[in-house]
Amino acid sequence: MSIKVGIDLGSTAIKVVFLENREIVWKKVVPTIPGQAQIANDLISEGLSETGYSPDQLNDPVVTGYGKNLVHDAGKVIDEVSANALGVFLLSDHKARTVINIGGQDVKVIRLSESGKLIDFKMNDKCAAGTGRFFEVAGRILNTPVDDFGDLGQSSADTVNISSTCVVFAESEIVSLMAKGIERQPIIRGLHESLARRIAGLAGNHDIEDAVYLDGGSANNRGLVAAIEDELCRDVHVLPYPQFSVAYGAARSLDSTV
Ligand code: ADP
Repeated sequence: MSIKVGIDLGSTAIKVVFLENREIVWKKVVPTIPGQAQIANDLISEGLSETGYSPDQLNDPVVTGYGKNLVHDAGKVIDEVSANALGVFLLSDHKARTVINIGGQDVKVIRLSESGKLIDFKMNDKCAAGTGRFFEVAGRILNTPVDDFGDLGQSSADTVNISSTCVVFAESEIVSLMAKGIERQPIIRGLHESLARRIAGLAGNHDIEDAVYLDGGSANNRGLVAAIEDELCRDVHVLPYPQFSVAYGAARSLDSTV
């Protein structure tokens, strides 16, 4: 039996997957901190002990993401846009035509052909607005973990307009809304809507086509997904583990090209 290993060294989180027969049999995400190569090796050891595979059953890992060049004993290195495109195309049963990946520090809009070939991509990595970082900053001010944003935002019938697109100005906007006594639920809903406008601005100019898949850690936020669907006026799909599709695509690049 040969187990494929994909490692996505993202700017915010490190993701590792083990695949047996194209299925994810083990996965783990941990925050990105200095010493990524050692963390990746430790995760592989953890995966081995949890699954019971022996080291000689593992293929050399395929590494991708922001820190991909830090792992010197990788079997293969692949760029994150190609890994993302391949991962979402395969996991969506070849349905995906547009992938919107909201990472910790950037947003990518990737377009795919019917056969899964990368047509083009667009990236916003100059500014934290529209990225997971925006939510993390807001979460600190609101004293709320980002994992709770989806439910809290969706539980509110009210919303507020967050007009600042810059994280620094949005931060002071949130503080002044709180000073007026506004609850965190409508503020979070307003944040989702603000982010959705920003992301739709990036994606909309890019001739997006169905089917659209939202990907990356922030795709776990159902409130954000709903706000993006409203803004784009179309269905937005989310895979079961949207934070792992880049690592999955990296591992599958050993046996699949599109
Ligand atoms: P990168 O690859 O750039 O490191 P990821 O795709 O791993 O980024 O996404 C990291 C982001 O995902 C973080 O900003 C984190 O806040 C967000 N995230 C992860 N899980 C959730 C969740 N359940 N709800 C909302 N946001 C989440």
